[in-house]
Amino acid sequence: MTDTGVFGDHRFNLIIRDLSQRKESERRLIEQTHELEEARARYKKLSETDPLTKIANRRAYEERLIDEINTAKRSTKPLALIMLDVDSFKQYNDYYGHDLGDVVLKRIAQVISESLPRSTDFSGRFGGEEFVVLLPSTDIFGAYQVAEKIRLSIKSLEIKHIKSDVKHVITVSAGIAALSGDSLNDIELFKQADTALYQAKEAGRNKSITFKLSNKDNRSNKL
Ligand code: GH3
Ligand code: MG
Ligand code: MG
Repeated sequence: MTDTGVFGDHRFNLIIRDLSQRKESERRLIEQTHELEEARARYKKLSETDPLTKIANRRAYEERLIDEINTAKRSTKPLALIMLDVDSFKQYNDYYGHDLGDVVLKRIAQVISESLPRSTDFSGRFGGEEFVVLLPSTDIFGAYQVAEKIRLSIKSLEIKHIKSDVKHVITVSAGIAALSGDSLNDIELFKQADTALYQAKEAGRNKSITFKLSNKDNRSNKL
């Protein structure tokens, strides 16, 4: 009986120790899982952010575009894309230097993100001195208003650019497209916005141009 009693006490101690060890390793596992999730989120954010301007990069834009297209197709509402390109930016870099050019790009990115009316709107750096804006549930006229707001805000920064062919300040040109339903797809939306941007450049820069309107109807502005 005595042996059993001693053995019983011993077993009891072992169980206590086993339980507290298990609790400790469970706690550590939860902690490690949290750390891993945080690291993964940090990495995701980093891989989707443009290191210079701190806004979304092209990869994030392309992912978002597909998501927004799917959402727009379900809702039948239009999806608008604005492509923005800094005017005569090569001359700016050549004259003022690359470092100041970088400062300009950061400022422009900030103005673009601050100009977006809805929390669901998206802005990103497409590459170089080109930026993109996605506006869900927005038709071409609404998108034109946003493009003009951005264009005028950038112009009113009055960043000196004496080598610009346009004004003696930094300006941007914008191409705008909006599609819905069956005609909405990423390639077509991009092609249309890009074509409109090209037209804005051809028409003298510092303009917002919407796709598919005749020259006469094209909404452009030289304010
Ligand atoms: P356009 O009005 O036709 O758009 O003329 P542009 O000079 O802006 O266009 P172009 O494509 O000839 O030159 C783009 C310039 O943008 C070239 C490059 O020096 C500059 N650029 C691209 N990426 C960066 C960047 O990350 N930092 C700086 N500082 N400059 C950049
Ligand atoms: Mg360009
Ligand atoms: Mg340019």
